[in-house]
Amino acid sequence: MIDFLSEAQALFEYTQSMRRDFHAHPELGFQEVRTSGIVARELNSLGLEVRTGAGGTGVVALLEGSKPGPVLLIRADMDALPILEETGAPYASQNPGVMHACGHDGHTAILLTVAKMLYSHRAELGGTIKFMFQPAEEGMGGAEKMISDGILENPKVDVALGLHVWNEKPVGWIGVSNGPAMAGAEIFRIKVVGRGGHGAVPHLAVDPILASAQIVTALQGIVSRNVAPLETAVVSVCTIHAGETFNVIPPVVDMTGTIRTFDPSVRVRVLDRFNKTVHSIAEGIGCQAEIDLQKLTPATINHLGTAARVQGIANRLFPKSDVDPANYITMGSEDFAFILEKVPGCFFFIGSANPEKGLDAGHHHPKFDIDETALPRGVALMAAAAMDILKI
Ligand SMILES: [Zn+2]
Ligand SMILES: [Zn+2]
Repeated sequence: MIDFLSEAQALFEYTQSMRRDFHAHPELGFQEVRTSGIVARELNSLGLEVRTGAGGTGVVALLEGSKPGPVLLIRADMDALPILEETGAPYASQNPGVMHACGHDGHTAILLTVAKMLYSHRAELGGTIKFMFQPAEEGMGGAEKMISDGILENPKVDVALGLHVWNEKPVGWIGVSNGPAMAGAEIFRIKVVGRGGHGAVPHLAVDPILASAQIVTALQGIVSRNVAPLETAVVSVCTIHAGETFNVIPPVVDMTGTIRTFDPSVRVRVLDRFNKTVHSIAEGIGCQAEIDLQKLTPATINHLGTAARVQGIANRLFPKSDVDPANYITMGSEDFAFILEKVPGCFFFIGSANPEKGLDAGHHHPKFDIDETALPRGVALMAAAAMDILKI
């Protein structure tokens, strides 16, 4: 029996040094040139077959087991965010205004370590592992780019795994959902067009601010009145911009926000109500509304069999109390969903917060940082799951 946790611990220094190096040199989506260069160098040094420039700045490597068998894809994302880091960590970003504030530095370091570990066990593997280092997860379509670049073909992928370090939960916690894991996300833009005029003679104008205020309020009724209480949806208006001064009714209001759902039928219903609500309120007040709806990601839905397998391995690897017995679900979204639309697989979460060390800022926060003891736990679970799927 392989002791995955001990092997991952033995490689911790490597994982940590990689993670800190990526953290200090963050790169935005599709600009991960330095990062993907290091990834390719590390994979090459193992003797793997490596392809760079996949879907932009992505890297793909193949590890052949000792016998034919299924093809398992394991994915890490490499991109950082346009945030000015405020952690004060010794390994803080040296690229001002760009920051690994979601933990993708950790994912890249984990997957490099998993590759190292599985390479040393390749004689015990049947099948092929395809390592996918993806650019631009943060709303820029990196996974879709790699899919259209052929990541799921040649050889054809049978099952896929991915993970996220997770500061919503303390280090030690492991979350695997058997079914829906993360929400599907849409971005919306609403432009409410009225007719500007003097603030003192509003009857001569058509006020888009009044219409917008009523739209924002009415949109809150969709989740409470059109979605069943046991179903899930979110409608959030997150920006609203209009006007320049106190005595001018502006001609236009711009709003943006996001809609999150799991169930496709709930999604259709919410989008339908959203469209009708915005248009009818705007028109009722004499304005015109223009809506631009963009699908960001589908819901991330884990394959039941694969998720149960990962859950079982987590229970063997870690104390029972570490593994969340419930299906952990979050309204965040993840473009790994595009892969899970095409092949069965599992996306799981590794708790990474540690309030006692002050490492508990949320994802995308300028003070975001993880407890690095989460890294070997992610390595061990990912490597163990891969070995279990491809064992001879
Ligand atoms: Zn993120
Ligand atoms: Zn992320």
